[in-house]
Amino acid sequence: MWPKADLAAAAASVNVDPAANVFLAPYAGPYGGVPAFDKMDLAQLKPGLEAGMAMNLAEVEAIANNPEPATFENTILALEDSGRALGDLFSYYGILSGNLSSPEFRAIQQEMAPRLADFQTTITQNAKLFARVKSVYENPRTKKMRPDQQRLVWLVYNGFAHDGATLQGAAKERYAAIDKRLAELYTQFSNNVLHDEESYVTYLTKAQLGGLPDSLVKAAASAAEARGQKGKYAITNTRSSMDPFLTYSTDRKMREKVWRTYYDRGDNGDAYDNNALIAEILQLRDERVGILGYENYASWRLEDRMAKTPERAMELMMGVWPAAIARVKEEVADMQKLADAEGATLKIEPWDYRFYSEKVRKAKYDLNSDEVKQYLELGKLREAMFFVAGELFNFNFTPVAEGTVPVFQEDVKVWEVTDKTTGAHIGLWYLDPFARPGKRSGAWATSYRSHETFNGERKVLASNNSNFVKPAPGEPVLISWDDATTYFHEFGHALHSLSSNVAYPTLNGGVRDYTEFQSQLLERWLPTDEVISRFLVHYKTGEPMPQDLVAKIKAAANFNQGF
Ligand SMILES: [Zn+2]
Repeated sequence: MWPKADLAAAAASVNVDPAANVFLAPYAGPYGGVPAFDKMDLAQLKPGLEAGMAMNLAEVEAIANNPEPATFENTILALEDSGRALGDLFSYYGILSGNLSSPEFRAIQQEMAPRLADFQTTITQNAKLFARVKSVYENPRTKKMRPDQQRLVWLVYNGFAHDGATLQGAAKERYAAIDKRLAELYTQFSNNVLHDEESYVTYLTKAQLGGLPDSLVKAAASAAEARGQKGKYAITNTRSSMDPFLTYSTDRKMREKVWRTYYDRGDNGDAYDNNALIAEILQLRDERVGILGYENYASWRLEDRMAKTPERAMELMMGVWPAAIARVKEEVADMQKLADAEGATLKIEPWDYRFYSEKVRKAKYDLNSDEVKQYLELGKLREAMFFVAGELFNFNFTPVAEGTVPVFQEDVKVWEVTDKTTGAHIGLWYLDPFARPGKRSGAWATSYRSHETFNGERKVLASNNSNFVKPAPGEPVLISWDDATTYFHEFGHALHSLSSNVAYPTLNGGVRDYTEFQSQLLERWLPTDEVISRFLVHYKTGEPMPQDLVAKIKAAANFNQGF
């Protein structure tokens, strides 16, 4: 074992009782403990962060000052087992920033981000600690350990070396100052985008609904009502609201307005403008890697990723770039031809792409994406994903009884994941499907707890988060083929974390760009015959998608890939 720090004393040094702070208290309840999402109290967040950092620093000091010679166990494993309370806190922090953000939270985040960066630098630049990590890394015995243990040692060592642990004097100080400033800038950048997503809503009148499908009109009506604008129709400033509007609206002026509002997020020349932030971020990144001796940021960033060098990344991109550009030109020419034939006197602009590509798709492949949507009902797609997970990973998904696992919002649902054959518990899967103010746009997967076994087995708490437009009460959620593909993609990330069999928490991290392999692989199960015939059924009649429609989707699979 390794020397234990006095965590209660560390927390007391900043006047916090960790047992009484919801963000620091160990997960309690069923399934090996679950986050107390129903008890989050913003007032406890800052004290929680301060105590979490103090506790983690006390642990790090105990490891660094251990009089025993450094070993894999007393240094690497001790680090793996440190920062537990802070780690749990960050699951809540992720929800508060990504799913439930508010001006109150953002004020705390803006204040704490640079302090968290400082805290991280204090650990990375702890010379005694790095000397111990280095000594384990260079110890010939390490080469004889299990491959996963060797990889863990390398990852921990590299985490320090790659982040300036070897710097001295003025360089060390400047590096820390840059990290702190970058943390501020990153936080401000994403909060500016979120601000602009929340603050700009385009309200339509009944006369401006031309071309919009019924489901979109209903969702826009309830979105407007939720914002106190009953009788109007709200197009919110998120991709899931903007995208279908641009696809179907016949009102070109409004298409331009909605397009500009979305693409101008963070670019409105006001207090939330990101242009100056971008310039400063680029300058500081360049200076930061210069201190480490790298030629540019890309060389540093790609070093531990699959591409390894900027040259190889460029080679990969340029391998497809000319073909992609040529394809875009062909597609826009097709759109222009169709617009001309219809007698529309216009030059295709970016806000026309979705609208006219939809028409070209119909003309070329006789494929109507609104018709496809009738077979893509959100609940059925979830069943389809569960089916695929059962076939491929032998997983079974069962909804947990309402109220047994706390959630942070009423639309969030939780399933237990078990082994289909043995019934053994594998983990929980949380789903937060709908867009709402304070939720960042896009779709993502995250975990509230990762698999590990080295110091007691921990089961996975995985989650998926989407921004589907919440339907009017009693209405189905019908989504596009692209959104269904994304749904499968993100579920692939969740399955990746649920399938983990690693012993050590750090090994769950994987290689950042390689983790896209699992998710892209899962996308390919959406257009399989099993999924189509069982789950892509008409939302009203229950009839499976007709063969000729399936054939058209497959024929059109490469359509619009340039755009
Ligand atoms: Zn992905």
